[in-house]
Amino acid sequence: MYEHFSADYDDVFKAAEFKNLDDVESFGRRFRKVSLQLQDNECNKVVGRMTICASHAFAGDDLCFYDAIVKKVQHKEHSFESGEEECLCNFILNWQHGPNVGNLTSATVENICLIQHTTGIDPKVASFLKKSRDKIEMAYIITQLPKVGMEPKHKEYSHEMYSTSSINLFVAYVIVLPHLCL
Ligand SMILES: [Zn+2]
Repeated sequence: MYEHFSADYDDVFKAAEFKNLDDVESFGRRFRKVSLQLQDNECNKVVGRMTICASHAFAGDDLCFYDAIVKKVQHKEHSFESGEEECLCNFILNWQHGPNVGNLTSATVENICLIQHTTGIDPKVASFLKKSRDKIEMAYIITQLPKVGMEPKHKEYSHEMYSTSSINLFVAYVIVLPHLCL
């Protein structure tokens, strides 16, 4: 589910639907911490060749975020007219995804979010990935077990062999024992 969106927009993934461990790992890489809105006094944090998350406005109020690489930052003097610092810089972005993929566009501070590069993963996602891996590993183990139809036959065969040996031994013992008594 997506924050601030209705259930109509939910994407549902089931732990049993992944075909192999690569699919699970690839799915896990699609998650990262929420990117942080760049503040007006932080524009010096954005430099060339940096990957950021940028907003793209569709018709209406739709706003989507896509990764983009900063091609260049055109620094401009900040304004303090409103009593607060206002960044007037331009950020030339090379979009990596979305409708502008491959295009260069100019953006301003309100379009930019800083990606949080952390190794941690959301506990809920981690738990889901573990369940998915367990299901795949269990399915693999099951395929490696001897076929159900084969196992009893093998056991019956062994049992017959053992019984026959025992009977033979017993018969030999009975024969030998009277001989010893005599
Ligand atoms: Zn600025």
